[in-house]
Parts: sequence; C-alpha cells; structure tokens
Amino acid sequence: LASRAFHPEDSVVMVGDLAIGGEEIHVMAGPCAVESREQLLEAARQVKAAGATILRGGAFKPRTSPYSFQGLEEEGLKLLAEARELTGLKVVTEVMDVRTLPLVAEYADILQIGARNMQNFFLLREVARVDKPVLLKRGLSCTIEEWLMAAEYIMSGGNHKVILCERGIRTFENYTRNTLDLTAVPVVKYLSHLPVVVDPSHGIGKWRFVPTMARAAVAAGADGLLVEVHPNPAEALCDGPQSLTPENFAHMMKELRGVARAV
Ligand code: PEP
Ligand code: MN
Repeated sequence: LASRAFHPEDSVVMVGDLAIGGEEIHVMAGPCAVESREQLLEAARQVKAAGATILRGGAFKPRTSPYSFQGLEEEGLKLLAEARELTGLKVVTEVMDVRTLPLVAEYADILQIGARNMQNFFLLREVARVDKPVLLKRGLSCTIEEWLMAAEYIMSGGNHKVILCERGIRTFENYTRNTLDLTAVPVVKYLSHLPVVVDPSHGIGKWRFVPTMARAAVAAGADGLLVEVHPNPAEALCDGPQSLTPENFAHMMKELRGVARAV
C-alpha cells in the first residue's frame, strides 16, 4: 500500500486544513519536551511568528536513562491543546505505547511514532485503528525497506494517513548524534507515494548544523521539516544542544524561503 507501484501519484496527508505533501513545505517546530506552560506557550508563539504551521512537543518522552525527565504526560497534552487554541498551530506529539494511545489521540492532531518504536508492531496496529495522521519516524538502525514495512503495518490496518520522517541513523560516525540520511528522501520518494519530512535536529544533534541540513533536506525534496526550538536551550530538560533559539529558528525559516517551494 505504501508503494508507488500501488499508487503512482504523490499522496497528500491532510492535517485539518494543512496539506502535507502538497505545494507547501510545512515546518513542525517546538521543544523536545513540554516542560511548563511558560516554556511551551513562548515556544509556540515564536515558531508561529516565524512561519511554522505545526507545534511539536513531547508529553511522553522515550529517554535513555530512567532517571532523566520523562515528560509531563497528560498535563503536557493539556498544555499542547492550550497552545493550539492560542496560536492556531496544529499539534504533533509522540505516543509511546498502546496504553496511553487513547489519551494522546484525544489531544494530538498528528500521532508521532518515535524512532525507538518504529518496529513496535502492536503499537503500529493500534494507531492504524485511529483516524489521525501518523508521523512515522525511521528507526535508529532501520533500513528503508524496514521503515516502509512499518508504514505498511499502519496502512494495512486501515490508516493511510502516514507521513514518513527521516531522523538520522546510527553509523560509526560519532561527532554528530546520528547520520542524517538525506539519500532516503529521493529514494523513499521513488519507492513510495507517502510524504517525507526530515528532522535535522535529531539527525545531527548539534544546533549549529541544523539550518544548513534543513535547507539541504528541502533541496532534496522533503515535504516538511521537524525542528526542535526552545526559548532557552541551555536550560532545556531534553535535547538542549540540538535546539535552536527562536531567533536562530526565525533566521533558518528566512533562509529556507530561498531554497524551494513556498514555506
Ligand atoms: C523526538 O522527536 O523528540 C524524539 C524522541 O525523536 P526520535 O524518536 O527520532 O529519537
Ligand atoms: Mn528530542
């Protein structure tokens, strides 16, 4: 179902009135994690002003250490809904398991399946039963074929609103957090009709390189971007080193407009 052989035209996934995979590049931006009302509303206001159309923010966080901040859970979801109300931005947030899916689905406009869950086939089958777009991140060490098969799980379960997200893969290189595989953009667009967005923040892990790779992603044909922005990255509870300040994000957005389709 994800294959271009099955569906020769590009698919457009509607998120309310936003068309992902259409003429415009959509930028999903916001903090890694929802930390507080002040932090989230400030981030939302700033990314909206710079031209983002979708607010990101994790309420349930898949952290490497169990002692790290795990997210505000339902309180975080409520803050995302409040930010949506105030700004008109759509909301993308991660769902980590089957148990919390009904709760997350109540608040999210797009359900994010994180890299660590890309092959959680039971979770994929459950999001297939929800009538919401799904942002399916590529697994940390997954091939393009495995990634498309994960999309197939969601689509074969009845949900065709899948947006793929390249977010970097594990390689021997460790200067960057991951290796952002931009070759995946043209390859996936050749193999599949699904929209593809790129997350340079997790792909590189260092904010300094994020704007350059965001431009490269758009030049390579990405339909959108997922970018971490924090009002004060030095104080972030999660992924501060890869988070842009609102000022740097606004600058990135300005530069993007020189690259390709309307942003
Ligand atoms: C995130 O988007 O904050 C995240 C945890 O991403 P990934 O699943 O790609 O690591
Ligand atoms: Mn993050």
